[in-house]
Amino acid sequence: MVIDSDIQSALEFKGFKRSPLQLYIHIPFCIHKCHYCDFNSHVRDEPPWHAYQQALICELEYWSQQDPFHGRSLHSIFFGGGTPSLAPASLIADVLAYAKSLFGFEENIEISLEANPGTVDMQAFQGFYDAGINRLSIGAQSLDHKELQWLERIHNNDDVYKAIAAARSAGFDNINLDLMYGLPDQTVQQWQQTLAAALSLNPEHLSCYQLTVEPHTKLAVRHASSPYALPDDAASLQFFHQTRQDLSAAAYTAYEISNFSKAGKYCRHNDGYWLYHDYIGIGAGASGKWDKHDGGTYRYSNHRMPEKYIQKSTAGWHAISSDESLNQQQAAAEAVWVGLRRKEGMDDDWFSQRFDRPIASYFQGELQPWLDDEKLIWNDRRLQLSGSGIVLADAIAGSVIQ
Ligand code: SF4
Repeated sequence: MVIDSDIQSALEFKGFKRSPLQLYIHIPFCIHKCHYCDFNSHVRDEPPWHAYQQALICELEYWSQQDPFHGRSLHSIFFGGGTPSLAPASLIADVLAYAKSLFGFEENIEISLEANPGTVDMQAFQGFYDAGINRLSIGAQSLDHKELQWLERIHNNDDVYKAIAAARSAGFDNINLDLMYGLPDQTVQQWQQTLAAALSLNPEHLSCYQLTVEPHTKLAVRHASSPYALPDDAASLQFFHQTRQDLSAAAYTAYEISNFSKAGKYCRHNDGYWLYHDYIGIGAGASGKWDKHDGGTYRYSNHRMPEKYIQKSTAGWHAISSDESLNQQQAAAEAVWVGLRRKEGMDDDWFSQRFDRPIASYFQGELQPWLDDEKLIWNDRRLQLSGSGIVLADAIAGSVIQ
């Protein structure tokens, strides 16, 4: 239960250098719930677009009045889901216009929208482009028809090709493709064919994640009763390394463990999460986080059910369902945890400024075994995962986060 005085104290700070400010907007509606999905997505015959737009507007208004955000313009915006491409372009345009009027936009702001290839056509893309979206993230997941059917996606492989062509025609010059590997019975060679097909579409960015069986999904229930042939640890490593090898050969930089971009086309918004930037999250189930003046971090999550979210937000108050405050030690651990995901690693000068002391003064004992083992390296003033340490990122992060 949120106590408003706690929120207020988390909002109070003075003389603290702020990070760039990001805005995440969650659109929770989908046409069908894919069986592997554990995102906050909900199927509704007729999504209540008008009410949802009003709720987003109310929440923007609320956050714009809070102290941490006074005088700060937006560095990046990301419409995620769910399926943001189901939303009317007018909703996207109106929410963006309102956000701009309240906060202002930095010059060259990045504004991304996730699009499901089964929900878009030329007209939809043109509407999003005209609304101000300048980066598309297309949830292809695979370019193999059978794999897409197994994933229960509503699109087929042709839809992905059509979506890219329509996006280019609408004017988009910054496109990401989301892909998934490690599907049941999939071989590394089959995955390489998917990668090659994706590269033929010349996207500026690729996100490649391994399928995971998340608890409480339909897939988890099915897998428990009749296990799928999913890759073991050794096979998972093969997929991981082959992905990096093939995308490196195609001149994509692995700027984060699972994210690859052409020069200068990294996702500024997602990179901000790994750089521990402040962000406001609006919409059902969205979360936000910002630095507190005492060195800690405040974090909140909204109500997940769209109807509850709409009710709370349009009442003229926040829609928070849970929150927590991290002290400086906990926040420092979290910053290392996310920062090590970046190819550039964690900048000790930034860390020392943000957390008063260098990384080693917090975590020398936890990090030393990884340094001795050369899974972690110091590169000038940056702490980075080594080539052999990158597959141990979670274990290394786990050693500091406890
Ligand atoms: S389209 Fe995406 S968000 Fe919607 S159910 Fe499928 S995986 Fe989940």
